[in-house]
Amino acid sequence: MEQKLRQEAKDLLEQGKVDYIIGFEAGSLKFTTTPLITTAKDDVDRLVINPFIANNLSVYLTEVKGRVGIVAKGCDSRSIVSLIQDNKVARENIVIIGIPCPGLIDLNKVEHLVGKDRDELDDIARDGDKVIVTVNGKKRDFPAREILFDNCLGCEFPTPQEYDILLGEPTSSVADKVASREKIETLEGMTSEQRWEFWKNEFNRCIRCYACRNICPACFCERCFVEESEPQWILPVPRWQDNLMFQVIRNIHVAGRCTDCGECERACPVNIPLRSLTKKMYELVDELFHYQAGTDKEAAPLLTAYEVEEVEDFIR
Ligand code: SF4
Ligand code: SF4
Ligand code: SF4
Repeated sequence: MEQKLRQEAKDLLEQGKVDYIIGFEAGSLKFTTTPLITTAKDDVDRLVINPFIANNLSVYLTEVKGRVGIVAKGCDSRSIVSLIQDNKVARENIVIIGIPCPGLIDLNKVEHLVGKDRDELDDIARDGDKVIVTVNGKKRDFPAREILFDNCLGCEFPTPQEYDILLGEPTSSVADKVASREKIETLEGMTSEQRWEFWKNEFNRCIRCYACRNICPACFCERCFVEESEPQWILPVPRWQDNLMFQVIRNIHVAGRCTDCGECERACPVNIPLRSLTKKMYELVDELFHYQAGTDKEAAPLLTAYEVEEVEDFIR
């Protein structure tokens, strides 16, 4: 698949169909990848596809000007569709190179299972429903469902629905819906006082680095409300109350745009379980409006569309 990707990317650049290729290359640390954004056809030999291609590359589409060939997993392709719906990018300027995605490996889960730091591991490889971890030359098998990211376990569209080139056959995810929403279920089982205490403790640790916002393709405002001074919605100082308010408002802003790609939680340097908020919002949007972000590029965006018959006339 990697060879095919490199060839397709090279052809797109050579034939002048795109100005840029956005994909993944090997990261500087073990078991990581990093975004590769290039106009040079020689660079495409660095493109990789592996179980660590975590970034949702669609976040760059609002930054890179010109025609773009972009590598997209199922969730990323939905983010691209959502950006098209919001008129942030034009479909004709994008060539989507779709990757049927069997799920990504969560290194925190691997470290927890084998009791070793990632630097101490020789290799991690996916083999169907198993993940093989090699430590000190010894191989150990784990069921993939114990090692994939929570959002991948709940993935509804692992194969991109919107694409121009599809690399490989459509795939299904290693679905484990129960494991996927275990943290949410625990929160749902709490009293509102317990939940308040839980989030108070979590957001006490937030350093307001904005990694969760900056990595999110659904957070595309040129000026974020947190930077407004008139009115000042929240203080710039990372107090837990303002941190919580930041996430509450951010969740409302991404409602109907969030594709459960899991990037905000993965990017958080202090491991705040942000997906418990975003996935819950995703479920509410589905339940109340029967709307799944990025599944229909012709559909009106959920929160910016209105009807003249709206009951609430302030919307007009
Ligand atoms: S959510 Fe689905 S498409 Fe996205 S990385 Fe996980 S398995 Fe792949
Ligand atoms: S990534 Fe984490 S620490 Fe940074 S602003 Fe978001 S919640 Fe706070
Ligand atoms: S809110 Fe988080 S999970 Fe949702 S699209 Fe943004 S980065 Fe992905």
